[in-house]
Amino acid sequence: MITTSVHDMTFEGLTEWLAERGHKKSRATLVWEWLYRERTTDFVAMEGVHPECVKALAEHFHIESMSEHSRQESKDGTVKFLFRLKDGNLIETVLMRHKFGLSVCVTTQVGCNIGCSFCASGLLRKSRDLSSGEIVEQVMKAQRFLDGRGLGEAVSHLVVMGIGEPFDNYDNLVKFLDVIKHQKGLAIAGRHITVSTSGLADKIYTFTDDDLKVNLAISLHAPNDELRTRIMKINKAIPIEKLFKAMDYYLEKTRRRVTLEYILLKDVNDQREHALELAELIGERRSLVNVNLIPYNPVDEHSQYQRTERHVVSEFFDVLKKQGVSVSVRLEHGTDIDAACGQLRSKQIKKEAVAN
Ligand code: SF4
Repeated sequence: MITTSVHDMTFEGLTEWLAERGHKKSRATLVWEWLYRERTTDFVAMEGVHPECVKALAEHFHIESMSEHSRQESKDGTVKFLFRLKDGNLIETVLMRHKFGLSVCVTTQVGCNIGCSFCASGLLRKSRDLSSGEIVEQVMKAQRFLDGRGLGEAVSHLVVMGIGEPFDNYDNLVKFLDVIKHQKGLAIAGRHITVSTSGLADKIYTFTDDDLKVNLAISLHAPNDELRTRIMKINKAIPIEKLFKAMDYYLEKTRRRVTLEYILLKDVNDQREHALELAELIGERRSLVNVNLIPYNPVDEHSQYQRTERHVVSEFFDVLKKQGVSVSVRLEHGTDIDAACGQLRSKQIKKEAVAN
């Protein structure tokens, strides 16, 4: 029998589903706790849940819909997982250790259609969206990995910055956030969750109006349209002016700060004049945005791009700082493993293509 992933269900959805079968709300709470607090992978293990309820659940749902294909662990505590989905597709998830806690970076699509010119993931076009349950399960797998170590550690932060454009899979993103934030389950605080978009302006308006109470990051990567279109072809359809108009709407309505992601590509967008132009572009929004500089991790597929030297990163940082712009440099994670986003997955896909 074909079953659905139970992680595709929101708490309200599960409660309703059980109520339709004559089970009361308290049973949904218990099932939810078994799933997200005890993190069981077997309905039969749900002690205290009425046997009729367990039977119904087991008939309609499954708990695991992906398996771990491989895993890379870095000396700095970063763990990169490659998961095989039920349909054979591969996705990547990263667990990172920070001073402030443990974060997971999730993937939202199989491949990506945005086609940023520096990205290993963008080379492999999107073949499908992930279901909300498949996004939830990535967090569960990372959490179970931590559980297995027996140190009582818990995922405290989430970044939706893995493969895919989350706003191109918007409904499932919203469902995923609902599950992951639920107080009776993993209860990850909205202020610890960041969703990153390449700049789908229309969806920024929707995201604002939906008031999901999570943070927003926008991949900017260039201070003007000419350069941004070269780096990110999406800029042709959604130029900076349109993007910033949507961002201003978000800033005004939510009063939350926005992170502007800026990947530094050697001699492409990392010069002093680019930093000055960026400060000018940000203009009066200085107190409302933070620029996050990301030193580029070179990948074989994009030999046109090199890594910006450390002193150039510092100069870029200093120029922005002097201009009164709030700026940070993203700490690197997993430099001794396949650190670039999508690198592990694309390597495996190539390997499988050769083998076939
Ligand atoms: S950087 Fe993100 S949005 Fe751009 S191609 Fe890669 S996965 Fe897609």
